[in-house]
Amino acid sequence: MQESHYDLIVIGAGSGGIAVARRAAAYGARCLVIEEGRLGGTCVNRGCVPKKMLWYAAGLAEALVDAPDYGFSVETKGFDWASMQHAREAYIERLNGIYATMLDDSNVQLMTGQARFVAEKKITVDDQLVSAEHIVIACGGRPSRADIPGAALGMTSDDFFALQQQPQRVAIVGAGYIAVELAGLLQALGSEVSLFLRREHFLGRFDATIREALMLAMQEAGINIFSSTRLTEIRRDDAGCLCLESDRGLRLEGFDALIWAIGRDHNSDRLALECCRLNVAEDGHIPVDSLNNTAVEGIYAIGDVCGQPALTPVAIAAGRRLADRLFGGMTVEAIDHDNIATVIFSHPPVASIGLSEEEARARHGAAVHIYQSQFNPLYHALTTRKVPTTVKLITLGANERVVGCHVIGAGADEMLQGFAVAMRLGACKADFDATIAIHPTAAEELVTLR
Ligand code: NDP
Repeated sequence: MQESHYDLIVIGAGSGGIAVARRAAAYGARCLVIEEGRLGGTCVNRGCVPKKMLWYAAGLAEALVDAPDYGFSVETKGFDWASMQHAREAYIERLNGIYATMLDDSNVQLMTGQARFVAEKKITVDDQLVSAEHIVIACGGRPSRADIPGAALGMTSDDFFALQQQPQRVAIVGAGYIAVELAGLLQALGSEVSLFLRREHFLGRFDATIREALMLAMQEAGINIFSSTRLTEIRRDDAGCLCLESDRGLRLEGFDALIWAIGRDHNSDRLALECCRLNVAEDGHIPVDSLNNTAVEGIYAIGDVCGQPALTPVAIAAGRRLADRLFGGMTVEAIDHDNIATVIFSHPPVASIGLSEEEARARHGAAVHIYQSQFNPLYHALTTRKVPTTVKLITLGANERVVGCHVIGAGADEMLQGFAVAMRLGACKADFDATIAIHPTAAEELVTLR
């Protein structure tokens, strides 16, 4: 088998993989990206992009409900899931094409197929053999399913994004980003949604004030939330509907879809990593240090496969830093994982940076000070549908450095990016107070908290 040699091989053309390859190529490195699916990875094809479009559609559905309160006489003829799906898919195909052009323009070679290590620096892709000085594993993850009888009758988020028809009565199992996001948008678009949590709460790592506000808002919107309920079996009845059994003796019938949203597995199991002597952690992630080096010299891992926060911007930042270090001769800093702003595109959205109150108190005890406010945003002054906004600041010590900033409510998603910059620069409560507010906005509450 003839062998082609590169400076850098990247396994996976998702957000992180494309970022590291393009940056490395800009430094003159000969780069190859290997991808078995569509370009853009989870974010573009089965995650952030199609989800955000459905989130916008759901926001329009809510605006249509509110429109009469603002004087509009509106007659809607329903929501056409299939045409929305078609438009979304067409946009994603355009993005796939844009990525292909970007790789080409950047002089990054693309190989389609499944990568498998055959030695430390050697990989086969079907019948081709390739090797490189540096290899980046950026092959992401895939949604998991529970191990109960009938689990295969449920779908994952991957299947959900391919649905041609809107499910009418949906069970969602899980307690993380995907569960609350899909529950919110499906309910707003007219499906009847039941959400099954194995514990009392969802979003366990988020600030309790915020997640409790979200739970109330979701219940207000009509979502049935079954806390502390573990499904034990799923069956399909003669009418084709799904029946669910739970550990609490609960038996529910008549669902036309069940979505597993219980976390993701790491795509490390099909790479033949034993051939490069790379061990994975018990949960399948590839362990890396703060600069994304694995235990094997010259092999790196970035993005969802390496157990760092499974967020697109984290993968991109890790990829670019890695290329700067390996091919740009730069000394790079590790990513600051403490102050990564994150948004949950729930209804209403949640945005969060830094420590939750629970984390802050556990780490710093009495040095923690909390400021928070809940209010009805001006938009809802005229609407029958009310969705309160909650803002919360967590400060530390005598100088009250802001170590946590959390918002739930309309606009939260666009609100916190700038506050993340302020927190990165070490802003204190006095800096927030000295900032002149933008009025009338919900964001101004963050600089007027008492
Ligand atoms: P998450 O890891 O966010 O949440 C999954 C949760 O489901 C677990 O934490 C657990 O919560 C619960 N769970 C696990 N097993 C079971 C089970 N058998 N039955 C019931 N519940 C269970 O996973 P997601 O799949 O939602 O998302 C994966 C990652 O993708 C996210 O962590 C995030 O990094 C990323 N993402 C980011 C988005 C964004 O930025 N807006 C959007 C979507 C995904 P508990 O232990 O409390 O039961």
